Amino acid sequence: MPTVTPKILPAAPSATNPDLMIGDLLEAGVRMAGDNQIVYRDQSRHSYKRFQERVHQLAHTLTSQGVEAGDVVAVLDWDSHRYLECFFAIPMIGAVLHTVNVRLAPEQILYTMEHAEDVFVIVHEEFLPLIEPLAEKLTQVRGYLLCQEAPKAVNTPLPLAGEFEELIAQQPTHYDFPTFDENAVATLFYTTGTTGNPKGVFFTHRQLVLHTLGEASSFQAPGFELLNRDKVYMPITPMFHVHAWGVPYTATLMGATQVYPGRYEPEMLVKLLVSEKVDFSHCVPTLLNMVVSAEAIASKKVDLAGWKVLVGGSALTQSLASKAWELGIDTRSAYGMSETCPLLTADILPHDIDKADFETQLPWRCKAGLPVPLVKLQVVDADGTPLPHDGKSVGEVRAKAPWLTQAYYKEEVRSEELWRDGWLHTGDVGSLDEHGFLTISDRIKDVIKTGGEWLSSLELESYISQYPGISEVAVIGVADDKWGERPAALVVATDLNNPPTSEAVQAFLEQFVTQGKLNRWAIPSMIRFVDEIPKTSVGKLDKKRIRTEI
Ligand code: AMP
Repeated sequence: MPTVTPKILPAAPSATNPDLMIGDLLEAGVRMAGDNQIVYRDQSRHSYKRFQERVHQLAHTLTSQGVEAGDVVAVLDWDSHRYLECFFAIPMIGAVLHTVNVRLAPEQILYTMEHAEDVFVIVHEEFLPLIEPLAEKLTQVRGYLLCQEAPKAVNTPLPLAGEFEELIAQQPTHYDFPTFDENAVATLFYTTGTTGNPKGVFFTHRQLVLHTLGEASSFQAPGFELLNRDKVYMPITPMFHVHAWGVPYTATLMGATQVYPGRYEPEMLVKLLVSEKVDFSHCVPTLLNMVVSAEAIASKKVDLAGWKVLVGGSALTQSLASKAWELGIDTRSAYGMSETCPLLTADILPHDIDKADFETQLPWRCKAGLPVPLVKLQVVDADGTPLPHDGKSVGEVRAKAPWLTQAYYKEEVRSEELWRDGWLHTGDVGSLDEHGFLTISDRIKDVIKTGGEWLSSLELESYISQYPGISEVAVIGVADDKWGERPAALVVATDLNNPPTSEAVQAFLEQFVTQGKLNRWAIPSMIRFVDEIPKTSVGKLDKKRIRTEI
């Protein structure tokens, strides 16, 4: 790279250049749509103006409990208006929001809370049985704030500061928030890998503001148009998982009506989708599959036509996108990971494809998408040499963007491994085409190496899922003396009592061989029908467990 000397001009002595602060996102949303609503289940609703007041009241509550800038505050709650307030109030006082993954095993939760050095805990009443046995080991925690759905007496050994609603109601509705360095850490959470302890990733005010702006600009792309102040948004990716992909921040900036469903219960989700006329949600494919397979929806007794769903976290298969489309549900893909805040790419279709019919768009809708503004992606070979954008050359995806975690918290070796060569290594294998469109073919560790060739488990899953009697599929590599590895598939039949035969599925895959899309040796010789496929804490196929169980 040549070095250059650009012109940098002096600023006026009194000029200011404000730090990027999360609080500015909230202010913008209130200005844009002060009367729009924040809805919690079928239990409560209030305006953006009231949302802002509650953020101020929560800030008073926390500081009156001794929480200071630099402290880490843990939250264990389902998706709620309270959680949204924590997304703002905690970082805005200069503290760090630790979104605890409540679906991890208790010993992993304990590990993350000790490692994060949480000093204050906001806990929903449903998680008391989880947290009470851990509390005596969490010696650094100074206090707990309880969230209840309705006031009632509780009997708990925890040193409770009080109940969320009760305490915030006693506080003034204005808090004089401090300003500070935009590089201050705002959020922290843990990602579980295949080996070792969960790893902490963290994001600063600056990173979250830039991520929000990047997300907002891509969410308004023509043909995509997921969010603005006339839209109704409901997450179905938990708020503890990468800030629900950062969308609550983006929805707030844009003043969209926001609906928080609490614990994900199918009936409540469907009820809210219909009664609140939700326009936009995001989720992993497993969850979308659950929704579109629900009897009331599949039979169109409940009409979800017009609902836009951004699918990420795992590949969207063509069969799931088609099944959703038949119900009027418009799916698109996005790609990212915990380490990347998460958004890296979104499925903003090339101009000509955007105007085409659904069948033409379908393969594009299932690709990871186009890098969003400010994201740079490369696909590199084993030596780190960038591969051509030809849609065919496959290698590891690496990224640069102003919102990537700069390290794993207190993990020097793993941090350097993540950031070697100055790029964040995603651990994903994929290709870029001439439009810059990314296709993910696998996790590096999930690629099946058979007879010296690399076989994409995601591609194979996509073909198998097109067999009409199949609702879910996971493909992994199993050791094979002759070929090194051979693909094996775990399959859930739509009708559990009447699954198709393995031979029928293998015969179905022959058409992709004839079309030149699949090599004959890629047809799995082992196809096992099961009632359920193991999932991770956030509903993705758990290939680590599948490998040990197959
Ligand atoms: P997590 O950190 O748990 O959010 O997982 C991130 C991983 O999910 C990525 O590294 C990918 O392996 C996978 N992933 C996310 N989005 C997609 C997508 N659109 N297609 C395929 N895999 C995806």
